[in-house]
Amino acid sequence: MNKKTVRDVDLRGKRVLMRVDFNVPMKDGAVADDQRIRASLPTIRYVLDQPASLVLMSHLGRPKGGPDPEFSLRPAAEALANLLGRPVTMAPGTVGTDVERFAAELRPGDVLMLENTRFEPGEEKNDRALASELAKLGDVFVNDAFGSAHRAHASTEGVARLLPAVAGFLMEAELEHLGAAVSNPPHPFVAILGGAKISDKIGVVRNLLAACDRLLVGGGMANTFLAAKGFDMQASLVEAASIQLAKLILVEAADKLILPTDAVVADKFEPDAKSQVVEVDQVPKGWRVLDIGPKTLDRFAAELKGAKLIVWNGPMGVFEMPRFAEGTIRLARVVAESGATTVIGGGDSASAVKQAGVADKMSHVSTGGGASLEFLEGRVLPGVAALQDR
Ligand code: ADP
Ligand code: MG
Repeated sequence: MNKKTVRDVDLRGKRVLMRVDFNVPMKDGAVADDQRIRASLPTIRYVLDQPASLVLMSHLGRPKGGPDPEFSLRPAAEALANLLGRPVTMAPGTVGTDVERFAAELRPGDVLMLENTRFEPGEEKNDRALASELAKLGDVFVNDAFGSAHRAHASTEGVARLLPAVAGFLMEAELEHLGAAVSNPPHPFVAILGGAKISDKIGVVRNLLAACDRLLVGGGMANTFLAAKGFDMQASLVEAASIQLAKLILVEAADKLILPTDAVVADKFEPDAKSQVVEVDQVPKGWRVLDIGPKTLDRFAAELKGAKLIVWNGPMGVFEMPRFAEGTIRLARVVAESGATTVIGGGDSASAVKQAGVADKMSHVSTGGGASLEFLEGRVLPGVAALQDR
């Protein structure tokens, strides 16, 4: 990785301003799922152990550019205090003289949580004045919020231009694992793409095709490719507007692209739909493809054998419905047991590997849905670009 991390700077006695992703689900004024908070603990503990003091900031939800108790980060601060076993002080706002006073009083080992960065209208505009207000609160900036790095906001990009800026451990892990997929991957490198639409991921398809040895395509995305090959996909999700592009990719990447040969089809888009396995050229009139079939799964498993790197984005079927989850769940197990370095990107894909019970067996499950997709497209993420080079 070519970006500096917390290990590359001397943090002893410093005040560290750190961007985390505490955009967690809340229920009845408490944190409903603390996974994202837990994910930031290694960096938080490392900073506090230097010892340094810590000022944490994050966005939460979509408040309308002003303070709103419903979107307060106080519950997140409480959850963090419990996890850390030390007090976390809640700041009286995001920036301003009162907040600066709190920050000035911090001693090494102390933690201050700022209010939701989106309480400030300048946050999403990457307002320079807001970034300088934030920069007053720390000596060094640490970004551990990979999931927000694709947005050039004041708390991600703006402030990084004003303070020495380095990556936290979570950010580092994301950049290393996703980075392996787009630059210098070990071979054989097999990529798996699925999910609902090609149009969302056309950049990812192209970028991965350039880097990988094989691209296995399932999910709704496969339907458009199959339609481009001339099969009648009936009521399946097919993006008519992407068929021309799919044809082009089929020609360019004929030797790399592997499509389903059989599928689980359903008479309606419902959990209790009638279903059967058919060849992809035999979709019954008015039915739709909702999962890959067993032959396809075997083929995909065979392609994954011996792979050194597997990158997977997008479920193989409508895994939210148990009847159409099998392709995704089984493939997750194959990937987990492949012995390859395994990298999972995408929000629904992360849920799917969790549902399959194999999230812990993957080398890396990305925490950043949109950010990981943009990264896999080969785009430069502004929040990453602003960090110091090594
Ligand atoms: P990720 O969040 O991992 O990037 P996507 O959001 O692209 O994944 O796609 C996930 C969605 O794709 C799921 O909601 C799933 O139900 C849907 N999907 C997968 N296969 C099909 C299919 N054959 N037909 C319709 N929807 C599908
Ligand atoms: Mg999704």
